[in-house]
This record gives sequence, structure tokens and C-alpha cells, in this order.
Amino acid sequence: MTSKEFLTIIKKEANPTDYKRYLKQLNYKKITSDEKLAVFEVPNRYLASWIKSKYKPLIQHCFEIYDGTKPHIEIKITGEKKSKKEIISEKAKNEATESTILNPSYTFDSFVVGSSNQMAYNASLAVSEKPGVQYNPLFIYGGTGLGKTHLLQAIGNDAIEKGKTVIYVTIEQFMNDFTFSIKNKNMEHFRGKYRKCDVLLIDDIQFLSGKEQTQEEFFHTFNELHNAKKQIVMTSDRLPSQIAGLVDRLKSRFEWGLTADIQMPGLETKIAIIEKKSELNGINLSREIVNYIATNLDNSIREIEGVLIKLNASASLLNQEINLELAQSLLKEQIREKKENIKLPDIISLVANELNIKPSDIKSKKRTATVANARRVVIYLARELTHNSMPDIAKFLGMKDHSSISKNIQKTNKLIETDENFKLIIQNLKNKIIH
Ligand code: ADP
Ligand code: MG
Repeated sequence: MTSKEFLTIIKKEANPTDYKRYLKQLNYKKITSDEKLAVFEVPNRYLASWIKSKYKPLIQHCFEIYDGTKPHIEIKITGEKKSKKEIISEKAKNEATESTILNPSYTFDSFVVGSSNQMAYNASLAVSEKPGVQYNPLFIYGGTGLGKTHLLQAIGNDAIEKGKTVIYVTIEQFMNDFTFSIKNKNMEHFRGKYRKCDVLLIDDIQFLSGKEQTQEEFFHTFNELHNAKKQIVMTSDRLPSQIAGLVDRLKSRFEWGLTADIQMPGLETKIAIIEKKSELNGINLSREIVNYIATNLDNSIREIEGVLIKLNASASLLNQEINLELAQSLLKEQIREKKENIKLPDIISLVANELNIKPSDIKSKKRTATVANARRVVIYLARELTHNSMPDIAKFLGMKDHSSISKNIQKTNKLIETDENFKLIIQNLKNKIIH
């Protein structure tokens, strides 16, 4: 088979967008004489890893169609044997001009809209229709696993489709890129890359917290892009004003445009999402099972998705239909496993970190409002998420008796009912511990 013949076959088999954007770049090099290994080349490592994770079986299938063989597939990067220096400079060049590779399944079409995410969805759509015009920056915030990255990449996928240069990075990648460029005295390249794109998508910006040098650099990137009317979209697990250790000039800039939140969806939307996800993954679920999952899981969509995948896997392993009993036993197992894995010290260190106090304060006798509040949150989460009894928790926190534990829990329950912000904080912490 020639490389051209291969492309003709895969074009028919693959999703057209994936083909046009990525698979077309596959260069079929050779097959070993025993037909066991087929080697392909692609221009860069992002493409290689994306194709490897998504398309290996289909590539194999193309060989089957062609001549009935089923070789292993190897995907190399063109010219991989070059010196390190060459690779670095090539990587720099590629990254400066090419858009980032995004998950192609994160589109607006595959996103289910409900009241919990309507505003974020509408704003994202508006931004992708007219980048840099209406809401700049767009700041999307909400708990883990609720669709922030999905929407962010949907904007990116759409913009790439329209021929824009898009950069999608987590703030951690931005930071690494920045440090790497300083070390290699290559700031010019770094700035060229980030200050010349049409759409800059930054995921999980809350991790800018306390990173002063990166904040300084990001400040300039932001200004340059904003002045040039280029679109900036950021996601975060909290509002700009709640990101501790973020300089004020960034806080205020992040609120210049629009801030839109995503909440945990209500039952109806959850059901619609489960239906959509199972359809996309070719999983067949009865209404009863969909309802069961929707009513029993309410931490994040990511968790729901995980359950669907596990459910499908166990059904095919056991060679049986997915039925309610299977779903029930899986969920029970999942909840039990989680509880066994979460330990009290983990809860303390997470809460201390998130609420910006010392872990040792939580176990101390201090009674300042901040510490008392943090302690209350720890107690609540310990009861909700672990198997520890009230006396266990009291002992661990160095409290005299466990009646104060139950008082604390009552108080927390009241706060959750009356204080939206507090509820959000608790929900966020819960998500973080579970994932
Ligand atoms: P976050 O970035 O907020 O932590 P993600 O965007 O990674 O969350 O979402 C987790 C998973 O849930 C993804 O697979 C995403 O496709 C899915 N998801 C979340 N919200 C929706 C939605 N409204 N419709 C469809 N899928 C969703
Ligand atoms: Mg995310």
C-alpha cells in the first residue's frame, strides 16, 4: 500500500473533521517484511500522541480492509533522530505558528445546555462567533468536572475551523513554557507565540496563585492581546476575587469582560447529559438506569462519565447486558472505595491549603473565626466523605468530646442552606477530595 492509498482508505473510515485536520498529515513509511509492524510519521509530538490515543485501531483496520493484514502501528515524529538542539528549535517554530491540538470531541454540539451552564455556554458561543469583540476576557468558573475545559476547547475547535490561530494551555503549561524560555534565553519566541495568537485559551487559571513572575508575564501578554482586540478566555474553579495571591491588577482585568459560572446541573440536564454521553460512546441504557445514575451521582459530570465507561466495560467483560443490578453494585463499590481512600490528614491539608491557613492551626486550640470556620469545614467533610465516627474525628482534631462535632455539623448544614458562597466552597472542596 502506498501512503496515498492509505489516506484514501482512512478518509472514508474516519470522522471527516479529524481527517481534514489531523489524519491527513499521516505519512505511511513502511511495513516490516513479516507484515507485523507498520510505521507512520507525523510532524509533531502532539499529533503523534493524539493519533495514537484515538486512531490506532482504525489505522489497523485500514490495513485489514486493504489486504487482510493486521500489523502493529507505530507513529513516529518526522526526523526524530535529529539532535536535541534541532528538536528544540523546531519545536519552537512549530509551536509559534501552529494552533494547539484540541480534543475534537469537545464541541458545542456535544455540550448539553441547561440552566446550570446556559450563561457560560451562550457567552462561549458569542465569543467564538466574534472573537475579541463582545466579552473580552471571558472568565468561566465553577467546580471540577462540570464542563469548563469542554467549553473552552469548543471555543478553540470552532475558532480553528474558522482559520484562527488558537493557543490552548493550562496555566501550568504557560508557566513551564515561560520558565523554559527564560532558561534557554528564548523569551522572544515565547512572546511571539503568546502575544500573536488570535484566541488565547487558558485553563485552570487559579493556579496562578502566588506565582509572581508568571503573573507579571501574563499581565503583559494579557494587555498586548487585549489592546490588539484578540480574544482571551480563562477558566477557574473560583471567581477572580477569590483567587488568593493574585495581584490586584490581574484580578480587575479578569473582570473587565464577562464572568460566567457553571453549576452542577439539575436532574433533567443530568439525564440529558447521560443520554448524550452514552449515545456518543455506543452504550445502551434503559431509562431506569439513566435515572438511577442521575439521581445517585451529583459531584461532577466527569464522575458520571467515569461510571458510564466502567459500566460498559464490566458489562462486556461479564458478557451481559447492562442492567440495574450491575449499575447498583458498581455505584456502591465506587462509593465504598472512595470512602476508604480518603484520610483525615488529606482533608486537613486540602482545607488548610484552600482556605489559606496552616494545617497545624486546625488541630490547635485557636478560636479565631477563620480557624473555627476551617475546622468546621474539616469536620463536615470528614463525616461526609470518610467512615470515621464522631469520636474518631474529635480525637483526631484534639477536641474533648464528640458533642461539639455534631454541633459543628448542624451549623455547617445551616450555612449550606443559607449561604450560596459557602455552599460553593464546600462543593468545590468535596470535588477536589473525590478526584
Ligand atoms: P472541568 O474542566 O470543569 O473540570 P471538563 O470540561 O473536563 O470539566 O468536563 C468533564 C467531563 O464532563 C468532560 O468529558 C465533558 O465532556 C463532560 N461534560 C461536562 N459538562 C457537560 C455538558 N453540559 N454536556 C456534555 N458533556 C459535559
Ligand atoms: Mg478542566
